[in-house]
Amino acid sequence: MKIAITELQGLIEQALIGHGMVPANAPLVAATIVAAERDGSRSHGLQRLPGYLSSLKSGWVDGKAEPVIEEAAPSLLKVDARNGFAQVALARASLRLRAMVERQGTASLATRDSHHFAALWPDVEPFAADGYIVLSMIHSRARIVTWGGTKRVLGTNPMAFGCPRKGKPPVVWDQASSTMSQGDVLLASSAKRQLLPGIGVDAEGRATTDPDAVLQGGALLPFANAKGGSIAFMIEILSAALTGARFGFEDTSAGIKGALTSNAGQFMLLIDPKRIGGDGFVDRVELLVQHLLAAGTERMPGDHRYARRALAERDGVEISDGDYSSLKQGQR
Ligand code: NDP
Repeated sequence: MKIAITELQGLIEQALIGHGMVPANAPLVAATIVAAERDGSRSHGLQRLPGYLSSLKSGWVDGKAEPVIEEAAPSLLKVDARNGFAQVALARASLRLRAMVERQGTASLATRDSHHFAALWPDVEPFAADGYIVLSMIHSRARIVTWGGTKRVLGTNPMAFGCPRKGKPPVVWDQASSTMSQGDVLLASSAKRQLLPGIGVDAEGRATTDPDAVLQGGALLPFANAKGGSIAFMIEILSAALTGARFGFEDTSAGIKGALTSNAGQFMLLIDPKRIGGDGFVDRVELLVQHLLAAGTERMPGDHRYARRALAERDGVEISDGDYSSLKQGQR
């Protein structure tokens, strides 16, 4: 069945509120789940709702947290999310961040003690749509083995980038540092689908195509081997060492039943390109995009999502009968 985006948003908000989130914060977190379903990013859509709900119910994440925001330097905001969701911290810091980039030409946001359980592109797209270059990264619990190591230390650590286009939605890419996101491994496990070789290892460090072996004590591999490992390392430095968040391997959730989100950090960098290239920046972006398209590139990152979004806005979002009836009861 299909339901309207607004109905899905309302149902998810109610489920979050029913599990301890304050009404002021619920729309912010619900919006990232809805955006993922709407745009076809299924690994971070409704599939993640049980994780949000159980993490809230367990007390592992605080749905009532009010972030504390400080100006650490003229173009650097420091945020303590107080064990709440990262989307709330970003929303509360957003006005000051925008004022900062307008004033200084660049602004950074360093957030700690936050939980990010979603795709990253919803965080960056609004800034890129407003004309800024934006780079954002977060770390997660230890989930990958790198550089020949045998134990998980770094997270699947995603990074997203956005830049404006002239008269078109921005180019936005968003990718994990692992060959596959944990969310996609969970989808493969539910569908009883084997993984491609080269994605993960089992608890003994042996290559495996079994998603359950990866999830139960195994690990994911970084994309492009050592190079993906280096990106994951950089993200852990900027999102954790810099912000003051716990590293993924310092996770303390083991004794808390239902604690599925990662208590971690987030780093975001904004640049106002008009400060260097004036209005010519978007023309330069367009020249590059047009050369890529002329060279056979089928689409720019983000275009698939925009196309799916247009369909969902017209026809509604596909949802299973089971998910719909669970949502109606405030669950999933
Ligand atoms: P994907 O491999 O699905 O996609 C990576 C990027 O490549 C996307 O921007 C995608 O654009 C683009 N892309 C893919 N194919 C093409 C193509 N043929 N042409 C042009 N662009 C293309 O992402 P991942 O599996 O690595 O990550 C999935 C999600 O998981 C991300 O949203 C990430 O933020 C999230 N994640 C969240 C974590 C958390 O702790 N919160 C941890 C790790 C990951 P498009 O969208 O248009 O297809």
